[in-house]
Amino acid sequence: GQAIRIGIAGHGNLGRGVEAAIARNPDMELVGIYTRRPPEQVQPVTAGAAVFGMDALAQHADRIDVLILCGGSKEDLPQQGPELAALFNTVDSFDTHARIPEYFAAVDAPARANGKTALISAGWDPGMFSINRVIGEALLPEGATYTFWGKGLSQGHSDAIRRVPGVAGGVQYTLPVEEAVERVRSGERPELTTREKHRRDCYVVLKEGADAEAVREAIVTMPHYFDEYDTTVNFISAEELRRDHAAMPHGGFVIRSGNTSVENAQVIEYGLKLGSNPEFTSSVLVAYARAVHRMHQQGDVGAKTVFDVAPGLLSPKSAEQLRAEQL
Ligand code: NAP
Repeated sequence: GQAIRIGIAGHGNLGRGVEAAIARNPDMELVGIYTRRPPEQVQPVTAGAAVFGMDALAQHADRIDVLILCGGSKEDLPQQGPELAALFNTVDSFDTHARIPEYFAAVDAPARANGKTALISAGWDPGMFSINRVIGEALLPEGATYTFWGKGLSQGHSDAIRRVPGVAGGVQYTLPVEEAVERVRSGERPELTTREKHRRDCYVVLKEGADAEAVREAIVTMPHYFDEYDTTVNFISAEELRRDHAAMPHGGFVIRSGNTSVENAQVIEYGLKLGSNPEFTSSVLVAYARAVHRMHQQGDVGAKTVFDVAPGLLSPKSAEQLRAEQL
């Protein structure tokens, strides 16, 4: 059949990742990259890829089957999501968990009014982890669900340490506490505090003349971000920061531990070890774009989440092929 025509709205880490993912999916074709910046300031990864201003989108409505929204969750998607869902089938990675219900409603109304299909909050968390939490609870109704994150670079916590006076640069890694993971894996169902589940490692470059002890103290006592965790602060050079901490790894586990009878405990584990958080997230967005295209063709419109998408719709293979090869 014809390739699924994809547009990319916003060209940061995810936008570049979507380009890379489209190149690995032969049933997809990149129509263009759309940006709020002057198009000549944006460097596509794909040779020959077209870059347009965001204002060109309205005229390109009939060239694009699915528009993948790659803007940030904080400032960009709350505005872009509802606006663009009035014009396009969309997929996004909105990850402000507490705001998902209101964001869903804000996208659903324009999508429904215009007969578009808009999938929100795809990625790994929210996204693949969410699916595994739901499946775990459905299969083992009596039990407990655990999500551990890391080892991974946290963008929000890295930004927070860069705002501390005396800090020239830095990154923060979230790590699951190994002992807690092992207890959960073993089938024990411990009640774990925030501190018992994760710890935080910071790598900080000091400004000239800054007091290392004062910086360390300001970081480890920072409310919400660090005060509830065991945090270590390592001081490094600007050169080490560039050389050793430029990648964006992440990952983690969703574990459901439950009993199906008094005698029998059951443990389900889903794990991710991601070399690049944004590239993996983008791969998920592209697979969901395929599903959204098919759901739209079937007349299934309005806002959707990963819970509403049948797994077979993600695959380029037909339902018949999947039954024969993978059931
Ligand atoms: P990012 O690199 O900061 O890009 C966000 C937007 O900023 C881009 O769409 C781009 O819009 C603009 N931008 C990028 N580089 C720029 C530059 N050099 N100068 C000026 N503007 C620039 O963010 P990201 O890493 O792609 O992540 C986007 C969102 O994905 C995050 O906010 C996060 O919420 C979400 N996320 C979700 C998951 C999940 O599992 N669900 C996982 C990872 C990330 P324009 O091209 O229009 O300027």
